[in-house]
Amino acid sequence: MGIGIDLGGTTIKGGVVNDQGIILVERLVKTRSHLGYSHVLGDLIKLIEELQLLSPEEQVIGIGIPGILSVDGGTIVSCPNLQWENIPLKRDLEQALSTAVLLVNDATAACIAEAAFGSTRGKANSVMITLGTGVGGGVIINNRIISGAQGVASEIGHMLMEENFYRCGCGKNGCLETFASATAMIRYCHLRINQGYDSTLRSIEDFDGEAIMDAAKAGDSLAEEAVNRLANYLGWAIANINDIINPESFTIGGGLSYAGEFLLEKIQAEAIKRLTYPQYAVPEMVLARFKNEAGMIGAANLGSFI
Ligand SMILES: [Zn+2]
Repeated sequence: MGIGIDLGGTTIKGGVVNDQGIILVERLVKTRSHLGYSHVLGDLIKLIEELQLLSPEEQVIGIGIPGILSVDGGTIVSCPNLQWENIPLKRDLEQALSTAVLLVNDATAACIAEAAFGSTRGKANSVMITLGTGVGGGVIINNRIISGAQGVASEIGHMLMEENFYRCGCGKNGCLETFASATAMIRYCHLRINQGYDSTLRSIEDFDGEAIMDAAKAGDSLAEEAVNRLANYLGWAIANINDIINPESFTIGGGLSYAGEFLLEKIQAEAIKRLTYPQYAVPEMVLARFKNEAGMIGAANLGSFI
């Protein structure tokens, strides 16, 4: 059992998670990052103290962060969503709470949730790719999360594919995230519409990734083109990662994955085409079991995967 916190750009979600991966109690507060670090820290402490009172025994506390952590897991080196750099969150929380706190990248937390209780349960080697506003990555090898020598491993979203028509938020041109996220699909559809391409999306103001998925399912040719483009580049990425790690399973999670088998089948087809040994070694590709609760469940179980 543990307490898992998902520290997101808009909300902080916290839950007491039992040994079966079930959230017994859940609390949610807004992330007031515009007020500065000390306010967010204060809100976090209050939230955790409340969960501690509601949980039956002393808990390990894990926190999922949308950013890069130092190698020792104590400092948030970079967290663009909250505009944080070099924040000693572990130290500050441990001082305030007098209990051990563990930090983890949020996509890695989602990877842990699946490995502990979800689609990849019982598999020692798995890779998680989360498709949302950006593309997140988590890697587990021999039941241990991979964070690398400097803490920047598992950043699947920033693997370089080829030149694209816009730059990634990280400053590079060609990151997977600019081909295979909701943002990527939205920008691609706007580009094609501005070029004169007709689409049912023209009638939707501020269409999002979900609207593109729905339009593709309904047969809109531009939306289909955008989804196929996303699947194509994910296929490349999966084949590349398989050449290096050859995990038992790739899990597709995040908001776009709610499109379900429609999307998964396209990704599988594109990946299999590019595997080096398709006749011999085809990794399993599955949809994530957990949705919004993945970060909490994974963070609460971090202790078993480090
Ligand atoms: Zn990038």
